[in-house]
Amino acid sequence: MPETSVGAGEQRAKLAIIGIRYDENSSFTKGAADAPPQIRAALRSDAWNLTSENGTDLSDDSIFFDAGDIEPVAGSDMLTLIENSIYTLIGDGLAPISLGGDHSITHPIVRAFARKYKDLSILHFDAHPDIYDSYQGNRNSHASPFARIMEQKLVKRLVQVGVRTVTADQREQVRKFGVESIEMRNVTPDLQLEFDSPVYISFDVDALDPAFAPGVSHREPGGLSTRQAIDLIQRLKGKVVGADIVEFNPRMDPLHVTGTVCAKLFKEIAARMLE
Ligand code: MN
Ligand code: MN
Repeated sequence: MPETSVGAGEQRAKLAIIGIRYDENSSFTKGAADAPPQIRAALRSDAWNLTSENGTDLSDDSIFFDAGDIEPVAGSDMLTLIENSIYTLIGDGLAPISLGGDHSITHPIVRAFARKYKDLSILHFDAHPDIYDSYQGNRNSHASPFARIMEQKLVKRLVQVGVRTVTADQREQVRKFGVESIEMRNVTPDLQLEFDSPVYISFDVDALDPAFAPGVSHREPGGLSTRQAIDLIQRLKGKVVGADIVEFNPRMDPLHVTGTVCAKLFKEIAARMLE
């Protein structure tokens, strides 16, 4: 191809945004499928700018490729569609950030990442360990993605932060799979997360205290402040290669504040991915 196909000074996009409008595996209530356009609207809002706290300007058109939204298809076809869509983006040299959707989407996303990264680690923010073998008879439940990820040995490490709903069943699963669980009651102000292999961040918005992010299907008091979560992301040692922000449910967000919280997390995670 002639060199002129890429203009002087023109840069190739580095990150991909993809919305996943899917909440069929949400056990208690639906609505997370409505999140992607709300987060995009918050990102575009004139109420703030697109510069992260470390000074990374995310407004440059050359940074993001917007892959649009994946609309739901029936049954397990959706998991295949998600995996293939993410793998296509990775194959194009892009680092995807997915906007969920319920947390079941993280399993097929991580399947795609595991095809490229043989030593992937996951940093998982959540009120819940999401590691039930199955939930209400559904092995693809949003309460089960990390059971699938661990039994398929897709990652080297799974580090969970902020969990505060661990049942005896789930505690046994955490032990069995060697999950590194930093429960909310053990989160200290000086907590520093370190990874010596590529990191994928899966951020369930209910990791945050519902005072900060009420727009979730399962409000669990006693969680992280938005500031604590941002500090953990900024202080994290390691190379962040992908992320998702899941479980924002606009139908549970009467004050319309949670989309902005998701957009803020997006900015800080994206800035880390560009380092
Ligand atoms: Mn959760
Ligand atoms: Mn979750």
